[in-house]
Amino acid sequence: MIRKLLAIAIAAPLIAYAQKPPQQVEVNVQKTSLSRDQEMQIGKQFAAQVEREMEVVRNPEVESWLNQIGQRLAKTPEANAYPYYFKLVNDDSINAFALPGGPMYVHTGLLKAADSEGEVAGVLAHEMSHVALRHGAAQIGKQQTYGTLFGLIGLAAGALTTDKNGNCGLVCQITQVGTGLGANSVLMKFSRGYERDADLNGARMMASAGYDPIQLPKFFEKLESSQGTTSEPRGLALWMSSHPGTGSRIQYVSDDIRFYPQRSYIAGTGNFSRIKQLMASIPPPKVQPGKLIQPKDNAQARSNIPAGYKDYPANGFSIAYPSAWQAGQPQPGSSLYIVPQGGALSNDNSGVELLAGAMIDYYVPQAGAASVKLAASTQEFIAGLAKGDPNLKAERSVAVTVGGKQALRTRITTKTSYTQEPAQVVYLFTVTRDAGLWYLVLGIQPSQLSAFDPIVKQMVASVQFPN
Ligand SMILES: [Zn+2]
Repeated sequence: MIRKLLAIAIAAPLIAYAQKPPQQVEVNVQKTSLSRDQEMQIGKQFAAQVEREMEVVRNPEVESWLNQIGQRLAKTPEANAYPYYFKLVNDDSINAFALPGGPMYVHTGLLKAADSEGEVAGVLAHEMSHVALRHGAAQIGKQQTYGTLFGLIGLAAGALTTDKNGNCGLVCQITQVGTGLGANSVLMKFSRGYERDADLNGARMMASAGYDPIQLPKFFEKLESSQGTTSEPRGLALWMSSHPGTGSRIQYVSDDIRFYPQRSYIAGTGNFSRIKQLMASIPPPKVQPGKLIQPKDNAQARSNIPAGYKDYPANGFSIAYPSAWQAGQPQPGSSLYIVPQGGALSNDNSGVELLAGAMIDYYVPQAGAASVKLAASTQEFIAGLAKGDPNLKAERSVAVTVGGKQALRTRITTKTSYTQEPAQVVYLFTVTRDAGLWYLVLGIQPSQLSAFDPIVKQMVASVQFPN
């Protein structure tokens, strides 16, 4: 052995003078201030947000197909042992994204644009590589605002309102930056360096899993070259902005492939054409609650709202509220809170408590949104609330009209953690909508009722639905 080492030592300088042997490009896992646990928790929270905003396609055949490919890739060393899972979302624009820690979402539009299973595997491998190389986590770690962006981390107990000087507090900050998980999100827009690393790591992952690695760059370049042609898939501009051109993907992946051990690439489920067929039969997406409670893009405030009130024109409804109150989602994907200062409290990581003011959301009945029925779903909803709140007492529901629709008003009494006056009166208004049971909760301490009742009246009277 010693003799052999010596021989190498003597030979080495000679090689150095000869042509330098080509070296495989190194791809590194990024350093980040987030722990692996934090990373996974952020991913989980964002996954919850995604699933309130986008319709997950429940189709066992497609789900199992996607997971078969994904899990095959997930077992490779290049996947860095994250607990990946894969879901299909009903969106016809071309896209796919993976969240820190492993949740991954594939748009129906991607499967429609792909021409082979290998191309789909290539996109999975690329997106999974962003997770494996901790690109999202590294970008979040750099964000100064991540404490507020992801209410989850570093959010101490405290009221979620504007501060005494009227500055934008947590609620409105999150409304501004935290909602929407578009291509501009820190989790989806990566530098060209990260893109190239994801390509290389993804190609190696594909090869390890038995897929032809060249399919990855080929699909990306195919999409790029379809720009402006009749075959350009929907949403390509957004795709290109979240996957910026990196020069020749095919070139640098081909250079990388020369270092891979010889093997034949035979992985494949053989079911791709069946999946394409199924894609064609998926009905158009239903707008999800998470989207419906968000403010409508470029919406105009209505002119007929009461003096001293502001308008909140959301995708699924409009409601006016007292100008001094704040509207917003305390956490990405959470319910909409419209509260006066001190009206909501974040008691721990698990949720936000409404002390005074309004909360709006949709309740999806256990049997699914399509099964929603006013009386039955309202009862189911209240029963669910009562399970988590032993102090809750609901009176008999009364038929009313909200936004021109049949509605129920239910008066509830309960207790909050507000120490000075724990008793709370809650008015619950419910209306059936396509996405489920729309509800408006208005809560107050009994001593404030006389001032609160006129506000309840004004707010309820201001509700409008788009259809
Ligand atoms: Zn990428």
